[in-house]
Order: sequence, then C-alpha cells, then structure tokens
Amino acid sequence: MAVTALVESLRRQGRDVIDLGAGEPDFPTPESIREAGIKAIRDGFTKYTPAAGLYELREAVCAKYHRDCNLEFQPQNVLITCGAKHAIANAILAVCEEGDEVIFSSPFWTSYLEQVKFSGASPVVIPTDEATGFKITPEQLLSVLSSRTKLLLLNSPANPTGSVYSEDELRSLAGVLQSHDCYVLYDEIYEKIIYDGCRHFNPATLPELEGRVLLVNGLSKAYSMTGWRIGFLTAPEDVIKQTIKIQSHTTSNPCSISQKAGIEALNLDDSVIADMVNSFDQRRRFTHEALTGIPGVACDLPAGAFYLFPSMSGYLGRRTKGKILTTPLELCSYLLDDAGIALVPGEAFDSLHNVRISYATSLGTLREAARRLSASLLKIHDWN
Ligand code: PLP
Repeated sequence: MAVTALVESLRRQGRDVIDLGAGEPDFPTPESIREAGIKAIRDGFTKYTPAAGLYELREAVCAKYHRDCNLEFQPQNVLITCGAKHAIANAILAVCEEGDEVIFSSPFWTSYLEQVKFSGASPVVIPTDEATGFKITPEQLLSVLSSRTKLLLLNSPANPTGSVYSEDELRSLAGVLQSHDCYVLYDEIYEKIIYDGCRHFNPATLPELEGRVLLVNGLSKAYSMTGWRIGFLTAPEDVIKQTIKIQSHTTSNPCSISQKAGIEALNLDDSVIADMVNSFDQRRRFTHEALTGIPGVACDLPAGAFYLFPSMSGYLGRRTKGKILTTPLELCSYLLDDAGIALVPGEAFDSLHNVRISYATSLGTLREAARRLSASLLKIHDWN
C-alpha cells in the first residue's frame, strides 16, 4: 500500500511509473456481483446488520466449504469481517494474549507480525528460503513448539512467495501438532489463484486438527473485490463467539451492501473466475521467463497467488553510478528512479535478498516492465 501511494505521488509529478507493487487483481469485480451491490442500495439495504454478518451470507460460506472440501459448518461457525485482514486480527485477538507464542514463517505477509504483537503474544518466526520452497518443515516446527505455543499461522498460497503447501506437507505438519494443544490459523485468501493443476488442500479436513483450525478467507482476491471489504473467519463456535464480541465493540458489522454482493459472489460457479486465473497464469509464465533471463536474477516458478519473489542477491553489494546497493530497499529505489518501476522490497516481508513483483497487470505492461528492468539491471553489470 505504501508503494502504491508513492507511485501515485510520482505520477502526479508527471513521472511515468509502472506499478508492480499492487496486491490486488486488475480485473473488475464480476458484473452480477456489482449488480447485487447496486440492488442492495436501491432496495434501501443500507442499515446495520447483525455484528457477525448476515445469516444468509454465513450460510453461503458454509455452503462454499461443503462444496469445495466437503466440510460441514453451521452459520454459528462463521464470522463475516471487513476483509480477510480483519478476520485474522479478530482471530488472533480472540485466542492470543501476553505470554502466548505464535509461530509463522519468514518471509511473511507484513500484517502477521504486527497483529501478533498487537495481541500481546510473542512472534516465533521460522526462517525459510528457496531450498524448501519457502515452506516450514516438520522438523523446524517441532524445534520451536513449546508449552506457550498458542497458534501456528500458515498461508497457502502465500504472499509474497506464491508457494503452496501440498496435502502431504500439511499432513506432516498436522502430525507434529497432534500432541500439542494449539490452534492453526490457515490463511487461504489466494486459494482460487493456483496453477499447474495444483490442488488447494484444506487442513481443517484432517482429523488430527479437528476443532482447532481457524480458516481465514474472503472475497478480495478470488472475485477481485478488494475495495468491498468482505472476509470471513470459519472456526469452532466458542472462538467465533469471542470474535463476535471483539467485532461488535470495534467495527460492528461489515458494510451491509458489500454483504449482499458477497452472497451473490459465493453463490456463483468458479467458472466466473476461470478467465482471470488463466490470464494470471499466462502473465506468471511470461514474467518468470523474462526475469530468469536476466543474469543475476534467481526465481522459482511459484504455484499460486500473483507474485514472483526473485532473489536479487546477484545485485546486492554492487555499485551504481552514485552508490553501492546493499539492500533490496536500495535496489528498489534505484529501479524506481532509473527504470520507473515500482516493486516491493523484501524488507516488507522480512527478506534481505528478495523483491516482490506483482504480475496482476496486463501482459503489455509486463512486457515493457521486463524491458526496462533488464536494461536497468544490466547497467549495474556494466558498472561493476
Ligand atoms: N492475507 C494475505 C496473505 C494477503 O496477501 C492479504 C492481502 O493482501 C490479506 C490476507 C488481506 O486481504 P483483505 O484485502 O481481504 O483484507
């Protein structure tokens, strides 16, 4: 969000900047969903709803989980929130307090760390890298579990790495957790944006984790609805009861109009998002090929989300015209200045080697971005 704000301010000054920082699909919200929102306004559906969200939308979330992974939930297991970010905050605040530990892997989505700290709990960060596809291994998990562990936070497909946990990997992690009494928060906001025939697996289906998985999901990414602010938390009823109290005293219900649009979204067939996912796949392959063709850039092809997370180590410690680039932030500043390209430096996700490239933009823009990126990076080669 900070990068997008910077891009806007540079554009106001007349700079030609390509924004590859955005964390949102560039497609419009599907039309029938927009129409449902318009109808809600026309019908005067513009007042408070129950704090936990509309019963009909909570039912639609249950139907979604039944349809997608044969999980049986009741509306009492569902909290509708103002985006997935809000669902994570409510869940963490409901189950964690000072003295507790929350485990998650690095690189991580920026808000996890801040939300854990906000609850008073201590973050326990497991470093990961390309060698394990940025995923936690069972051995790593075992080595950090303690009597204070309250929550394991998993994100698949992941932001910023695009990595996806397989069913086997999740089964292995669940095996480690079998004898530990803690919750698992599974952030599956990118579940529908997945490639190469990869299957999104839901760990709430595993008997070892029965009654302790907190599922975070929402409409922002799958239905290109980032501005509508609808997310949902699906969890054991006692946890949902606590989150309703928190939500009731902080934000009250999510926007009534967006909730009506959300019912329409969840009742749609996945075919409405198939074209978007196909376009992302094309762009993913194009951008990956262009990037890995640049000397000194190393990048695996991720199986989900809409980001590439290349290692730029080959360019750190190198001289430009004016200075030596030592961090991803300095490299991103150079690329913004020299090529007019905005990327998110790895520091935002706790990485000192990588940058995040969002390919949620047109192929034409990606082509021009690749050309400029390559020219600017090759200049660094020439100077060294
Ligand atoms: N979780 C992850 C991993 C994300 O990348 C994002 C948004 O970028 C969110 C949650 C929050 O989504 P929302 O916009 O629905 O709050």
